[in-house]
Amino acid sequence: MRKKIVAGNWKMNTTVQEGVELAKAVAEKAAQTPENVGLIIAPPFTHLCCVAEAVEGSKVQLSAQNCADHTSGAYTGEVSAAMLKSVGCQWTILGHSERRQYYGETDEKLVEKTKLALAQGLGVILCVGENLAQREAGEHFTVCQEQIKNVLYNFTAEQMANIIVAYEPVWAIGTGKTATAEQAEEIHACIRRTLAEKFGEQVAEDTTILYGGSCKPSNAKELFAQKDIDGGLIGGAALKADDFIAIAMSY
Ligand code: PEP
Repeated sequence: MRKKIVAGNWKMNTTVQEGVELAKAVAEKAAQTPENVGLIIAPPFTHLCCVAEAVEGSKVQLSAQNCADHTSGAYTGEVSAAMLKSVGCQWTILGHSERRQYYGETDEKLVEKTKLALAQGLGVILCVGENLAQREAGEHFTVCQEQIKNVLYNFTAEQMANIIVAYEPVWAIGTGKTATAEQAEEIHACIRRTLAEKFGEQVAEDTTILYGGSCKPSNAKELFAQKDIDGGLIGGAALKADDFIAIAMSY
């Protein structure tokens, strides 16, 4: 049975103090959420140490939002997978559309980053998704398939056990426009088929695929009821502990 996950991407929001308060509130309420739903929060790098302490003893796991494409050395401003591991991260998000769009993150770079993260024992939440022009051109299936193939086809079936995929249509991120449950489900099913082609049915069945894009308490239930949607990667609504927990309670 694949794991259900609700993960919060805080992006570049909150001071350390605000972040610790938010993490404590999430950790406190986490016990109310169903046992089979995992919770992950991804604060900014600066917060990770303090937030690790704030969630200790709860079911909340810690993720980074990105990691470097080198192991160590003269890469000013970068944070390595080993550094993330050393502050208590279990996960890192990779390939978020904001990183692809604003920081030139390519699929090639994501292969390197994924290798380094997995080598340090971090799980990877790999984001894929089409932009508005691609959806309007009817290219959404191919764009997502290509992103999956370009990155994940470089890994083994065993490594897939530590990889989560997040489908995030770019036009739905932070816009208030959610993909309909049907639109999301058909891409999730397509991603699962693409994984099955390379890794076999069992690995595809066992891979957690999250939906992200204006997911909130009011629409989570319908999205999560879809066969191939295994939870959410939540942006805006993850900044309020009550909303984040309410989304996790939608199972
Ligand atoms: C995200 O950026 O991962 C995201 C899903 O954002 P939002 O929920 O705000 O659309």
